[in-house]
Amino acid sequence: MNKRDQKATLIGAGLIGSLLSAYLTKQGYSVEIFERRADMRKDTASAGRSINLALSDRGWRGLAGVGLDEEVKKWQFLWQAG
Ligand SMILES: Cc1cc2nc3c(=O)[nH]c(=O)nc-3n(C[C@H](O)[C@H](O)[C@H](O)COP(=O)(O)OP(=O)(O)OC[C@H]3O[C@@H](n4cnc5c(N)ncnc54)[C@H](O)[C@@H]3O)c2cc1C
Repeated sequence: MNKRDQKATLIGAGLIGSLLSAYLTKQGYSVEIFERRADMRKDTASAGRSINLALSDRGWRGLAGVGLDEEVKKWQFLWQAG
């Protein structure tokens, strides 16, 4: 059976849920993800946002596994440039 025919349902779009959805999508699963918080790109509330972000070697390896490390590095330099 093609994995595209299989659906994975995830609860929570935090760091783990988001990364896992990228891994499962890459493996061919159709992923549905439920998040109780509002979309922070659209929500104006500042509570819960962090002023900095530390990414460990383990984090970089997690991103590299789905080919997202280079994309994140581009954003990192944009943030640093202000
Ligand atoms: C202030 C702060 C700063 C931090 N800074 C860093 C940092 O710089 N670098 C770093 O590596 N780590 C940092 N951490 C730690 C990091 O945020 C956690 O280790 C990481 O978020 C854990 O990921 P997670 O996916 O397990 O949980 P979360 O990121 O907490 O994700 C869980 C998600 O599930 C959702 N959820 C829960 N229950 C439900 C439900 N019933 N239905 C739908 N959605 C639900 C929640 O809303 C949440 O979005 C920081 C933590 C805090 C509090």
